[in-house]
Amino acid sequence: MRYSEIINTLKIVKDMIYKCVKDGQVVVDCTVGNGNDTILLARLVGKTGRVYGFDIQKKALDITKESLACENLDNDVRLIHDGHENIDLYIKEKVDFIIYNLGYLPKGNKNIKTNKDTTLKSLRKAINILNDNGIILITCYIGHEGGLEEKEEVERFLKSLDQKQFNVVKYDFINQINYPPILYGVEKSKTRRE
Ligand code: SAH
Repeated sequence: MRYSEIINTLKIVKDMIYKCVKDGQVVVDCTVGNGNDTILLARLVGKTGRVYGFDIQKKALDITKESLACENLDNDVRLIHDGHENIDLYIKEKVDFIIYNLGYLPKGNKNIKTNKDTTLKSLRKAINILNDNGIILITCYIGHEGGLEEKEEVERFLKSLDQKQFNVVKYDFINQINYPPILYGVEKSKTRRE
């Protein structure tokens, strides 16, 4: 099977990153994992931008640090060994883009995974530090234990956001077997100044 556009959530996420993330922006990778998104974000925000990356596994941050060095990317990347539910302790500025890849690290320890309570805590805080026209992308993996419940909590929360302030979209490959991941995108509207 060869598709060119509507391939999978990974492709949609990548397209959105390329479209939305710009030079000089402040962006956050809430689940660094293997570091692919962190590295792409660092490249796109350039020398004048800043990337914050969170992971509770030191191994993930070490691998990412190494990859950044290999690519000679000495941009402002702050890798934080803590849960994204504590995002407010580390980020004291407004941010333009936030990404979450929920679940466990492929090829890693499957018991170390995101969970609905900390994910929700983090999302509530993420919404508050988002700039006008800022974007949040959340990919939910639902094939593992707890994944479906986490996705449902995420969706319930996102559905409750006021449409005057946020637009929320859901991408779901509805004819695929084996629980394909579900992607949510959130854009915060520009605040009207009276
Ligand atoms: N399922 C995705 C990858 C998810 S990686 C895929 O298949 O591509 C998820 C990462 O989140 C892991 O590296 C894990 O250590 C990290 N993580 C788990 N709980 C976290 C938390 N509370 N805060 C930050 N990172 C967390």
